[in-house]
Amino acid sequence: MILVLKAAATAREVAAISDRIRALGFAPAVTSAADRVVVSFVGEGPAVEPDLFSALPGVDKILPLTPAYRLASRAAHPTDTVIRVGSATIGDGSLAFMAGPCSVENRTQTLEVADALAGLGVKILRGGAFKPRTSPYSFQGLHESGLEILTEVRERTGMAIITEVLAPADVPLVAAHADILQIGTRNMQNYALLAAVGEQARPVLLKRGMSATIEEWLLAAEYILSHGNPNVMLCERGIRSFDKATRGVFDVSAIPLLKRLTHLPVIGDPSHATGHWELVAPVAKAAVAAGADGLIIEVHAHPDQALSDGAQSLRPARVATLLTDLRRLTAALDRSLDLAECGLRIADRGIRAA
Ligand code: PEP
Ligand code: MN
Repeated sequence: MILVLKAAATAREVAAISDRIRALGFAPAVTSAADRVVVSFVGEGPAVEPDLFSALPGVDKILPLTPAYRLASRAAHPTDTVIRVGSATIGDGSLAFMAGPCSVENRTQTLEVADALAGLGVKILRGGAFKPRTSPYSFQGLHESGLEILTEVRERTGMAIITEVLAPADVPLVAAHADILQIGTRNMQNYALLAAVGEQARPVLLKRGMSATIEEWLLAAEYILSHGNPNVMLCERGIRSFDKATRGVFDVSAIPLLKRLTHLPVIGDPSHATGHWELVAPVAKAAVAAGADGLIIEVHAHPDQALSDGAQSLRPARVATLLTDLRRLTAALDRSLDLAECGLRIADRGIRAA
């Protein structure tokens, strides 16, 4: 870290600043640049919080030399983090593909879409049992009975399950049913929840807060990593803008930027970013072209009947077309699409009564 002092800093202030640097185990190096005194920290010592110096008399600017997100940074961990769930691999250069309904609405709806996706070779099923709805009067999800339906899907199809957790108290229950825990945009800075998912063993998909900066997002990931869970992936799901024409703005530049700043896998969610099913496939392809490690996409067999996010949900037949395009796109990029070989041939089994 480097401190730039005020032009009027006194010798006494420089001495007090130097004493505080020594107390942390560094040697202060005092030099002059232009009309300013600059104090740098020399040697090895603990990570230093800029706040320890911001209120010291004489300090004007603090220039950290390393990012505050130490564990998430590429500098600290040059090789890519690779996450394995079920038969899927995320972050190894292949393109991961997660798909499924916004909400688990009932057993029949979930098994119908899960069977169709398994038939296409999709390895990871998404579906919300705890739904973070903007209005308290909207469908809130089936909670534990929704998780039981997702567990049945895993047993039936072999797909891994990703589902959202909303509260620290629910983490053990959701982790008992899910293979990946999702933290939604509204909870990106719920630090108690980040700590709770950091203390359990399942991988975590951390969605970007809808008004969060890249640095705030990486610091949210840092909470999970620093609580002991190394398997975090970041999901760009659109940020807020002035324009209501789309639900959000898909920040495509965030993808290559994150690939430079962090070793964590980056996933694109074109469904929540756009809010319109017609825009999902083009934006999905843009995310892949920009270097995303995976996609998460909302799919419903009957979008017109969906209890949440029907307007942005693809029908399974459109997923099949998208997967064909993604196969060609990934091949052109010298990558592969992480799908089960011939699909799982269960689509004809029919759905037994519960
Ligand atoms: C979802 O995945 O259904 C969801 C609620 O997403 P987000 O947190 O991005 O709004
Ligand atoms: Mn949704």
